Amino acid sequence: MLRVMRKIIAFILAGVASAGAEALHECGHCAKHLLPSVTKLTPGRKYARDRRVDIVHLKLEVVPDFSKRTVAGLMTMDFSPVGLPLEKLELDAVDLAVTEVSANGAALADWHVGEEKLVLHFDRPAAPGAKLQVRARWTAAPERGLYFRTPEMGYKPGDTQLWTQGEADLHRFWFPCYDYPNERFSSEIVCDAPAGMEVISNGVLLGKAPAGDLVRWHWRQDKPHVNYLVALAAGYFHKLEDKAGELPLALFVPPSLKETAEGAFADTRRIIEYFQKETGVAFPWDKYYQVYCLDFIAGGMENTSCTFNAAEMLFTPATETLRTLHRLDAHETAHQWFGDLLTCRDWSHLWLNEGFASYYTVLYEAEKSGSDAMKYSLWREAERVFEAKDTRPTVWRDYGDPMQQFDTRVYPKGAWILHMLRSQLGPELYQKAITLYLERHRFGIVGTDDLHDVVEEVSGLSFDQFFDQWLHHGGWPELNVSYAWDSGAKMAKLTVKQTHKVTDQVRLFRVPLPRSEE
Ligand SMILES: [Zn+2]
Ligand SMILES: [Zn+2]
Repeated sequence: MLRVMRKIIAFILAGVASAGAEALHECGHCAKHLLPSVTKLTPGRKYARDRRVDIVHLKLEVVPDFSKRTVAGLMTMDFSPVGLPLEKLELDAVDLAVTEVSANGAALADWHVGEEKLVLHFDRPAAPGAKLQVRARWTAAPERGLYFRTPEMGYKPGDTQLWTQGEADLHRFWFPCYDYPNERFSSEIVCDAPAGMEVISNGVLLGKAPAGDLVRWHWRQDKPHVNYLVALAAGYFHKLEDKAGELPLALFVPPSLKETAEGAFADTRRIIEYFQKETGVAFPWDKYYQVYCLDFIAGGMENTSCTFNAAEMLFTPATETLRTLHRLDAHETAHQWFGDLLTCRDWSHLWLNEGFASYYTVLYEAEKSGSDAMKYSLWREAERVFEAKDTRPTVWRDYGDPMQQFDTRVYPKGAWILHMLRSQLGPELYQKAITLYLERHRFGIVGTDDLHDVVEEVSGLSFDQFFDQWLHHGGWPELNVSYAWDSGAKMAKLTVKQTHKVTDQVRLFRVPLPRSEE
């Protein structure tokens, strides 16, 4: 995800560093949806939650009502208890009016809706490995997670749309779910929308057929992904299409912004081709669509196979020499590998999503515009780190809300950590490590140790200190370098002092110092 810099965010966070991708409009009416997220700001270190169940498949059948800004849905979830008998299943659900719950494979004794949970009690504990299915019917007028943009709200009638935003934990506001990134499953969305609208979701379009006055669209994502990457958009759009090899590409903009579409689509094919070559791993999903959303609550969001971006970033041909979307495009496309194919197991490892997306944007800069452009990008990323003066570790567990992870420690500093890793390994060994990391953990969840392991495996070197100082401790070295010439001995004396304040959190660094003798 790329976050939007808004003054209001900085105000709400009051002192917590706020990341900004591209400066956007100062939007008061939707900023309230952004922060804080639903998780209570509880003190103490945070760890991945208990899965309890292996979710196999999630199916949502939804009918949005654009005039009432409500959604009616039926959720079907196939799952098996893991390891221990399961007495109850707790799903995340906030402000949902659940009307009907049923189960197959186990009898339900009872179900109830708590403050943030839908709880299903089984008659008898379900055995580990048992194949169970639960269904829940609900309605919602979601304040978060699913957002309408309609004429009643002041949008142009011809631009009417809705879109969803799951990360970090917002889907629970519009459907009952397991809303944590440590569990993967295939997913399916059936959505009824007015004729003339496009409906876009994850995976492959299985069909489209009349359903009363509406049109029923059926999307299915067969390859497993995590809950926050589930996505739905519906509305009137102007559509462009392309292909990267056999991979279908499309880009959707609101019809009134039709003339901006080509500028936004200019780099997509080349970005995908470059990332396939650089990572050594083919684009992992069935298609790649990009949908531009009105008053989107972030800059961009890497939903599996269908990225959603902020329409405010679009530009017309009149400003094409001043504006570009290739960085946003590269960032979100890189996430299709780093974030979607591999997903951080809990929010303390978010840099494995955002640091990689930021660094592969820098690498694409080199591919597109050469090494000076790449160096300029790296310099800009470094400036963001230094300006934030944030010395908390990049892998950081003392957060209250997951959204507190989305800052300079994981985006620009994460990119720099990868750049240092690549500098120390050399581009070829680095590439070998990353290909192995992606192949070994494809369709899996990852922690920082998984990357550490492959780096040591391909290099035969210890990277304990590297990961300890850059990931598990914070800050960066401040160096004072002085030089003296000893004419008697004909020797140059180079003195390097680390002058930053050393604390439990920020230690002395071991930094290789390449030097040239001319
Ligand atoms: Zn991102
Ligand atoms: Zn807005």
